[in-house]
Amino acid sequence: MQELRWLRIVASLWMLLMMGLAGCTPAAPATATPIPPTAPPTATVAAATPTATSVASPTPSPAAPAGPTPIPTLARRGPGVILLSVDGAPADVIAGYIADGTMPNLGRLAQSGARAAYARSINPSLTAAAQTSIATGSLPRRTGIVSNRFHLARDDFYWYQDGFSMPLDNAEPVWKTAQRAGLRTAAVFFVGGQPDLPKQLADYTVGYGKRDIYSNLIEVRFEAAAAWENAPRSFSPAREGKVPIVSRGNTIATLLLLAVDTSDNGRADYDTFYLCEKAAITADCATLTAAGNWASFVINKRIVSGADFKITDPDLDHFKLFQSAVNYNSAAPADLLRAINARFGFFPPSPDYYALEHGWITPEDYLEMARRQSQYQIEVARWIWETYAPDLMFAYQAPIDEAQHQFLLVEPAQPGYTPEKARQYEEYRRRAARIVDDNLGRLLEVVDLQQTTILIVSDHGMAPIRGEVNVNAILERAGLLKLYAGKTDVDVPNTKAIAFTSGAAGHIYINLRGREKAGTVSEAEAAGLIATIRGLLAETVDPQTGRPVFARVVDRAGLAELGLDSPSSGDLFVQAAPGWALADTRGAKNVFGKVEYFGQHGYDPEIGSLHAIFYAAGRGIRPGVVQAVNLIDVAPTIARLLGFAPAATVDGRPIESILSMQP
Ligand SMILES: [Zn+2]
Repeated sequence: MQELRWLRIVASLWMLLMMGLAGCTPAAPATATPIPPTAPPTATVAAATPTATSVASPTPSPAAPAGPTPIPTLARRGPGVILLSVDGAPADVIAGYIADGTMPNLGRLAQSGARAAYARSINPSLTAAAQTSIATGSLPRRTGIVSNRFHLARDDFYWYQDGFSMPLDNAEPVWKTAQRAGLRTAAVFFVGGQPDLPKQLADYTVGYGKRDIYSNLIEVRFEAAAAWENAPRSFSPAREGKVPIVSRGNTIATLLLLAVDTSDNGRADYDTFYLCEKAAITADCATLTAAGNWASFVINKRIVSGADFKITDPDLDHFKLFQSAVNYNSAAPADLLRAINARFGFFPPSPDYYALEHGWITPEDYLEMARRQSQYQIEVARWIWETYAPDLMFAYQAPIDEAQHQFLLVEPAQPGYTPEKARQYEEYRRRAARIVDDNLGRLLEVVDLQQTTILIVSDHGMAPIRGEVNVNAILERAGLLKLYAGKTDVDVPNTKAIAFTSGAAGHIYINLRGREKAGTVSEAEAAGLIATIRGLLAETVDPQTGRPVFARVVDRAGLAELGLDSPSSGDLFVQAAPGWALADTRGAKNVFGKVEYFGQHGYDPEIGSLHAIFYAAGRGIRPGVVQAVNLIDVAPTIARLLGFAPAATVDGRPIESILSMQP
């Protein structure tokens, strides 16, 4: 779910600016441009993990007053269905991991259940669009989620909407349909299940956590420690330093870090560090070691927001502390939010690709962050399944997507490729698959497959990339997109077209008079303009091979065939050829840009590496292998399994070939 690459660009610019102003301490990136209209999608959120099992901190659940609020456990009433979406899991890769024993839990399910040759994603094969189509059984033409980000004519021309947080146009998640049929439902960290989208709520909805503050690499300077309450014995004079928590340039809290030398060896080797609100060691402090463990710290007890911390350079002369993004939970109803906060603590940070690509953290750290967050998500899902006994539950796992994006280094044409690095990265991807399989195992411990069907799907696969093509740079060079001098702000009155891209897909909008708020282009002019842009895109070829970098350019007349004929779609919809990601950063010098990640999606879903997975096991499933299925078939299949009629807006059909039950 890391298509929001603009965030990194904004952040980089800010870093440069802040470093210029304030020496060399990287500042937290701020959202200062008028570009992003909303908080970045939940998917890019980064923050901290607090479950007692996964945190090496003395404070497993620091915000909990005296333990979780008691919640009465509901009784299971009849058949159940769990849908687990494994973001970005490619069909062929997962088949390989089953065959070689990397994913034994999924392997056992595959053995006893049904699987499809692959699951066909939708156009574009992007997370917000595809997960929404899984949940609804409807194509983007009905959901209105035509990309991860797209422009609406009601907004200013430079504005885009975030596909992860938009209400649906003319479709509903199958959990809503199930509710109407009298069933109890849960959507746990699933796209489309957001507490701030009230019409789409399940009975128990846990949204993707929200980010309050960006991650940071903090240089701590130490001095002789003042008197600390309950300070442990230190064999060298204890030292202390300040840890500022910076939000958009403002220090919102200053924590204290006490450095202690616990070894009586005659050397001043500080090995244990206490991160605390004030000069007192309490259960709320996080304990960090020079060896580099992760520990959680609650920043704001009222909203239960917090971050994970890790020492990345323990030498007191140039000590560095990584602070993850600060996140908090979002869930409905309010009692559920309170219970999750009390029991599990704040929403953990996503693996932080910005920090990874800037050398703040290592690939090992990145995978550990993926593990901590995905484990948290499965523990919450497991607890909801046991406590509230929903008839239908949607759950979500991201590590395979996150590792494929970052580590899909498989082709010699990719930047920095060496056989050794490729082998190392292959191992990273495999570890992400193991994380997901372990989590699946945890979930299955509480699922009775006599009573319950489990469906395991992905939203899309992943293809290797070697660079980015900036669509707005193409428009700027042709004079169709105008920016104010020296800025990235759009000069709307003089602009004729703008692109919004995500991954390998993008929508290009014409500044049409009568449709856009400050439209400048007449209907008569628009047709010629579209032809001009088509020509510009066709001329854009791979500098090395001379091959076109756009695999698909369709105008509005061509959108119906792709299921994308929605008012939210652009006047042109474009998809890159494999090997290329698209970008829309404004004011970029070059059309072609370097990348520091290696996998992307958003391409035509028929491309082999983009094929998604579909596995089903348990109640009502006939074992065997079936032909390719469609992601939009998942929701009506759930309706069949639970015995209610699919919504009238469903485009897919139940996958009868896997069912052992009569219609
Ligand atoms: Zn995805």
